Amino acid sequence: MDKQDIFEQVDGIEERMGTTYAELGALKKRIIMLIEENKRLSIENQQLRKLIRQDETVLEQPEGETKEPLPLTGAGYDNLTRLYNEGFHICNVYYGHLRTEGDCLFCLSFLNK
Ligand SMILES: [Zn+2]
Repeated sequence: MDKQDIFEQVDGIEERMGTTYAELGALKKRIIMLIEENKRLSIENQQLRKLIRQDETVLEQPEGETKEPLPLTGAGYDNLTRLYNEGFHICNVYYGHLRTEGDCLFCLSFLNK
């Protein structure tokens, strides 16, 4: 095998690795987006279920005793703490995004308020 052949082969591998690396990066972004979307949907689902339960409670009440539905408190402190511990941002800078680099100072300063 002469030198030219070897270099051509190495160039080929280098090019394929570059493509693979780019594909991996794109895939990682998609995974992050899917995880974030999944979280948004599960929170929305939870809030909708809460609303349905409130509706049922209102319907079960006898006439003349209609009560105002409870306000949605999906952003309660406990919920935010849980969300943060599940690996998501709760700060107003990146809210709802996956924390891919460990702790976030914005979130932590919010939690320590
Ligand atoms: Zn944050």
